[in-house]
Amino acid sequence: MKAIAVKPGIPNTVHLTELPAPQVDDIPNGRGVLVRVLRVGVDGTDKEINAAEYGQAPPGYDFLVIGHEGFGQVEAVGPNVTEVKPGDYVVATVRRPGSSIYDLIGTNDMTTDDTYFERGINLRHGYMSQYYVDDAEFIVKVPQGLKEVGVLLEPTTVVEKGIAQAFEIQRRLRVWKPKRAAVMGAGTVGLLATLVLRLKGLQVVTFGKTPKPYLNSDLIEAIGATYQSTDELSILEGAKKYGPFDIIFEATGFSPVVFESMQALGKNGVLVLSSVTGGDRKVEVPADKINLEFVLGNKVMVGTVNANREYFEMGVKDLAQAEAEYPGWLSRLLTDPVKGLENYRELFAKLTNPNGAIKVFCEVAELT
Ligand code: BGC
Ligand code: ZN
Repeated sequence: MKAIAVKPGIPNTVHLTELPAPQVDDIPNGRGVLVRVLRVGVDGTDKEINAAEYGQAPPGYDFLVIGHEGFGQVEAVGPNVTEVKPGDYVVATVRRPGSSIYDLIGTNDMTTDDTYFERGINLRHGYMSQYYVDDAEFIVKVPQGLKEVGVLLEPTTVVEKGIAQAFEIQRRLRVWKPKRAAVMGAGTVGLLATLVLRLKGLQVVTFGKTPKPYLNSDLIEAIGATYQSTDELSILEGAKKYGPFDIIFEATGFSPVVFESMQALGKNGVLVLSSVTGGDRKVEVPADKINLEFVLGNKVMVGTVNANREYFEMGVKDLAQAEAEYPGWLSRLLTDPVKGLENYRELFAKLTNPNGAIKVFCEVAELT
């Protein structure tokens, strides 16, 4: 079968390769699920992997099959699989268990191991191929009615986890009734965070750099949130105008925004950080002021990465609610399809030079 791979450690090695097709019984205990891949999204992580800034090949290989935002259809299942059947639409989770106590209880996304295993990212092949196989434990069913937007599930789960963690943490307050939220960044994750917070009934202000109107600001306003360009109003001025914020979701990929967000957060508020920043940027910050306000205001900041099965299930529910409440909105995020694995060059060209693109994805096979 065809697959798209990179040679980790060497920049710009993305290429098409030929691999033996996986089989259901590659997975022990009759728990295999063979999936025919339909679509695979790409994001900043794939860009970093191809730039050799991130990612490792599985043991015994000198290449890594990329792709962690998969969507496909079950082709065959092992004798002990009852959760899904051939023809079902599915998405697989990304992280695989290590050995910390968190991995042992099924929360691989909370591993404390130094090495972690992520399909398509670190030490495990991904989904950018015609087929993949995995244990049913890691396969999440997506209802037929969501097939057009199922490729958005993985990025949605990152948002689901961050917001669920914020609510979990805020149980410390006995009564927490968040009203005002801010989202930093209006890319795919920022848009999905805006959506999930709107579905919870919060007022949301989403900050982005680009002055409106453009597609992303239109999408934000179409679901009743406010878009604010930071070229016109800084985050701190924005906090005075729209805040104080009970929850802030940071998804810009630009770490200095974190320290501005800390100052924009209201008393008892929670700041969720989701940007993976591999660089070495330094900034000067008003340290005393930030610290004092955090202490006197009982504020919290939490980092979040990856998502386990429960957040995939939450994501499915929210995608369904979004389709019911804002029909057609999710499809508008799917701006840049690229047909066929063999067009991987075009896929990466769009990813590195987005030119207004929101979600770039490969149509590995036709959606049926
Ligand atoms: C993926 C996550 C992953 C993270 C760190 C993100 O792009 O969506 O699943 O945990 O990168 O590797
Ligand atoms: Zn990702």
